[in-house]
Amino acid sequence: MRRPLRIIMLGPPGSGKGTRAHIISELYGIPVITTGDMLREAVAKGTEYGKTAGGYMSRGELVPDEIVNGVVGERLGRSDLENGFILDGFPRSTPQAEFLDDFLEEHGLKLDYVIHVTLEDEAIVKRLSNRRSCPNCGEVYHLVSKPPKKEGVCDRCGSELILRGDDRPEVIRNRLAVYREKTQPLLDRYMKKGLIKEVPGDYSMDRLSEQLKRMLG
Ligand code: AMP
Repeated sequence: MRRPLRIIMLGPPGSGKGTRAHIISELYGIPVITTGDMLREAVAKGTEYGKTAGGYMSRGELVPDEIVNGVVGERLGRSDLENGFILDGFPRSTPQAEFLDDFLEEHGLKLDYVIHVTLEDEAIVKRLSNRRSCPNCGEVYHLVSKPPKKEGVCDRCGSELILRGDDRPEVIRNRLAVYREKTQPLLDRYMKKGLIKEVPGDYSMDRLSEQLKRMLG
């Protein structure tokens, strides 16, 4: 049996972190923990923290660290992570990275890689404004490179596809600015720990698995 893999996906919104996270998940049988999906679910259910989080999310701002750390701490405490985990969208700020470091240390665990996915801003805006998401099952489409079989309808579950409110160009610009200010500094932190692996965000799907397998072994 291979050793557990604990991975962080780091990169701007729309760079392709989620796609890569899911490929790694399938290759190595490790769960992906996607904070954006967890928060969107809480908003849809109208839970207490979902109500607070929704406002920040619609403006493209970060949800306060206490809320996100609480959600992630609870998820990391569950028992299905013996093969490791892939964090997609967390940490996104220094207090979140510190929270994660403390959690790992307390549990005697260590990170293996921080995968930095890179893409130019213009390509990100183009990609995200063409993205359509299924609010029911979470499947993600792209109007040009991965359109649904029937226009506006999810192939997987038949629900109506939406343009996420925060995938509108004006909100995307804000998400990118927030990324530069709050999340990008984490690169330095993980660089110093020697954990960073750089991957371009614009590889075609068929090259991705090969690239990731070569990188992770
Ligand atoms: P994403 O789907 O990863 O782009 O996340 C969508 C939105 O959820 C972000 O713009 C934030 O408002 C919120 N969010 C997701 N992950 C985090 C996090 N780690 N810290 C704070 N806010 C987050």
